[in-house]
Amino acid sequence: MAKLKILEFPDPRLRKKAQPVEMVDQALKQLIDDMFETMYDAPGIGLAATQIDVHRRLLVADVSADKNEPWVLINPVIFEQDGVEVTEEGCLSVPGYYEEVQRAEHIRVRYLDRDGIEVESEFDGLLSVCVQHEIDHLDGKLFVDYLSEAKRQRIRKRLEKERRHRQPEPATIF
Ligand code: ZN
Repeated sequence: MAKLKILEFPDPRLRKKAQPVEMVDQALKQLIDDMFETMYDAPGIGLAATQIDVHRRLLVADVSADKNEPWVLINPVIFEQDGVEVTEEGCLSVPGYYEEVQRAEHIRVRYLDRDGIEVESEFDGLLSVCVQHEIDHLDGKLFVDYLSEAKRQRIRKRLEKERRHRQPEPATIF
């Protein structure tokens, strides 16, 4: 398994729209394992392929306290939603910032599972919010897009400043 690098706002690659997964093969399963390792290590409760610069419609999530309820959603489509829920969200691609976002309370989603089988699931609570947040990533959308322009620009400027002061990544030594 390998830990993958997570893109950070305002990286333009986070704005790409992901294309459907065409085949659930061994390479995809390896990618799923790597995404879980990256997500658990971060630590986060969800990760979309877009965030690791793979532009395929795939997301992983685990909102359980014991980190033992992994979800894999391939080509997810929300086909029913109702209710309203406001949750303070964060994002591995917008490190250190948490803001309230309004989303649907319950959703029903059709997707392929890890074995490529088409299934339908109903999500509510934190998992519903998480799945909606990750599907947004696949469409090139970030939770900061729900905030005011002024707030989003403030976050962008602070993140860019912080990044300049961060240690550069070690160069490859031959
Ligand atoms: Zn996110």
